[in-house]
Amino acid sequence: MDREKFEAADALVDEIADIVDEMLASEKAELLKTKLAELSKAVGSDLSVSLDCRLDVFDSKRERSLPLLSTGLSSLRGQQPYRTWGDSSPQKYVVNGEMMIVPHDHCPACWGVWDFKMDQPVCGECGIRLGEQVKILLDSDVCPHCEKGKVGVAKPRCSECGFEVNLRYVVWG
Ligand SMILES: [Zn+2]
Ligand SMILES: [Zn+2]
Repeated sequence: MDREKFEAADALVDEIADIVDEMLASEKAELLKTKLAELSKAVGSDLSVSLDCRLDVFDSKRERSLPLLSTGLSSLRGQQPYRTWGDSSPQKYVVNGEMMIVPHDHCPACWGVWDFKMDQPVCGECGIRLGEQVKILLDSDVCPHCEKGKVGVAKPRCSECGFEVNLRYVVWG
């Protein structure tokens, strides 16, 4: 999504996430949790069950969707269900000169699944290449790998974790 759309959506997604949280913590959800625990008991101890609330944004042109929120309840062996959170943090990119924001495990161009971009620098869905048509936009000098050390143009290797940023793959915003 382009930056404006992402920012317009972001605050609302947070509000929706809070409402889902409240609903799943409410008294009304108790029966749901009881039934989920019963279900997990019924399927046997080697299987678990989960009820997922997903919020997606769908693009009919790309025929793909991006997950903006994924949260729910899981249960194993008849135990009291626990809350799950599965969303990926958003990452900024520059695609053909335009800033795009998508979950970090998706392609900012086609919205297909594309994880570990620095290790697999070509999108398996649309063939776009990291370092060419697309670059990862880093806002700060915080290491994108460990989020503790610092990296920069003059010092691409993180002093904390040793991760080296490929300077061809990133731009600093
Ligand atoms: Zn792609
Ligand atoms: Zn690091």
